[in-house]
Amino acid sequence: MSRRKKGTHIPATLPILAKLSHEYGHEDPTSAQNGSDSCKHPFTVAQWRDLTSKLKENFSQTDRERMQTLALGIREGLLWCDETMDRYCGLTCHGCRDFCCDADGIYFDDADLIYLLILDNDLPANQTRAKAGLACRYLSITGCILPRMCRPFICTWYLCEPQMELLTAEPLPLQKQFTAVMQMVRRCRQQLLALHNKPSPAIKNLAAPLPCQ
Ligand code: SF4
Ligand code: SF4
Repeated sequence: MSRRKKGTHIPATLPILAKLSHEYGHEDPTSAQNGSDSCKHPFTVAQWRDLTSKLKENFSQTDRERMQTLALGIREGLLWCDETMDRYCGLTCHGCRDFCCDADGIYFDDADLIYLLILDNDLPANQTRAKAGLACRYLSITGCILPRMCRPFICTWYLCEPQMELLTAEPLPLQKQFTAVMQMVRRCRQQLLALHNKPSPAIKNLAAPLPCQ
């Protein structure tokens, strides 16, 4: 009996993500896992603008194409799971007593912003909260006003208990696809961050010992 190849649970309708899945398999880049989330706090408008320019400055031309492919894969995965997540929210969120959009600590992280910027999207107007402790500024009475592909990834990655129950009641192939897509989006985000945080060749050259004269 042949073993199922890694990544084959990614739906065939997601060609970019499926290709990335075959390339990266299940390895997470350790450098990205240890990466800082320097932007996970409230910003003034001017600080948010500065952060945007600083993140853009770090887009190395050599890695730009690769980063764009990763970001396209992320977007593909997020768009694919949108219908399922919206359906789950429609079934569970109304009347929820522990509204997760009010929870502390939900902010755009570095990978969220790099993913949007490398695809030439405008960033949302600011961080999710004007001040720590306030509810998310993108929450309206009808739910989140941001399209899923522009929300912090945590807002899609997090499935609360009632939503987990809905997922586990789905046919097994869909459960496996959903899990594989989420895991692959996560892996692409880590790769994207690793490329963004990679020291530039100029910095590497400065750090290298000078050749003997
Ligand atoms: S996702 Fe779950 S925890 Fe969050 S508001 Fe909806 S039902 Fe509540
Ligand atoms: S961005 Fe949207 S989904 Fe995420 S916490 Fe804010 S309102 Fe909720």
